[in-house]
Amino acid sequence: MAGDAAHLMPPNGGFGGNTGIHDAHNLAWKLALVIKGLAGSGLLDSYETERKPVAVFTVEQSFSRYVARTAPWLAARVQPAPLVDDLRIELGYLYDSPLGVHADPRSTCGAPGSRAPHLWLERRGQRVSTIDLAAGRYVLFAGGAGSAWVDAAKEAANRFGGLPLDAYCIGRDLADPGGQFLPGFGISSSGASLVRPDGFVAWRCPDHATEPAAVLHAALGASLKDSLTPGAQGK
Ligand SMILES: Cc1cc2nc3c(=O)[nH]c(=O)nc-3n(C[C@H](O)[C@H](O)[C@H](O)COP(=O)(O)OP(=O)(O)OC[C@H]3O[C@@H](n4cnc5c(N)ncnc54)[C@H](O)[C@@H]3O)c2cc1C
Repeated sequence: MAGDAAHLMPPNGGFGGNTGIHDAHNLAWKLALVIKGLAGSGLLDSYETERKPVAVFTVEQSFSRYVARTAPWLAARVQPAPLVDDLRIELGYLYDSPLGVHADPRSTCGAPGSRAPHLWLERRGQRVSTIDLAAGRYVLFAGGAGSAWVDAAKEAANRFGGLPLDAYCIGRDLADPGGQFLPGFGISSSGASLVRPDGFVAWRCPDHATEPAAVLHAALGASLKDSLTPGAQGK
């Protein structure tokens, strides 16, 4: 179930259409990987565990706006949830995050479970957004001293049967003229960030790891909800 069929809400705030599109955005890449045999059905279960808390939160916020703007007399009979900023609802919703269900998207800085930050980088002299690099594929971004992560990503993609996974080392494969990448993604030059095909951060390692291939394999296994991957339980 997706859209209004799953979470009907008052129109106040204008969140209903957004939330339905977010559902499809969460589900489409999971369906694609499962249909292609690149992930197990456990990945589909994560649709509900990730989307339901966001839908509940968004319905509550729509209702609070309905009471505040359209039906103030209801405030005496119900206790609407305190209003939070629209930006947290539309872009700051989080999946399976220790930060909770929402945050200010300008402050999440690449935290796992949040949307990967949009930053302008350069590829072969052409300006490209981090968001466009992640569209529809897993992407690993490694800091300038983290080329071992790129090798690990190729190995991990093979171990997952040819999973669509691109890997870039900042400074070598992509230029960062604004110097925004490391603070934006919350890693050091020897760290790495793994972004899902829907542009959400799956995992990050702020610094180097002694066994990057094993660490990344476990991170991908956790993201794909692959119960057969050792160490895949954590994020
Ligand atoms: C006044 C108002 C203002 C709004 N403003 C905004 C806004 O600014 N921003 C925003 O994001 N959202 C807004 N919304 C909410 C948004 O319109 C809805 O959340 C969104 O359209 C829901 O899309 P949906 O595809 O889930 O459902 P629907 O748009 O209801 O689509 C369901 C479709 O399924 C069809 N259908 C039903 N039963 C069957 C069947 N048995 N077989 C085949 N087809 C069937 C229906 O005919 C319909 O075409 C607003 C809503 C209202 C009422």
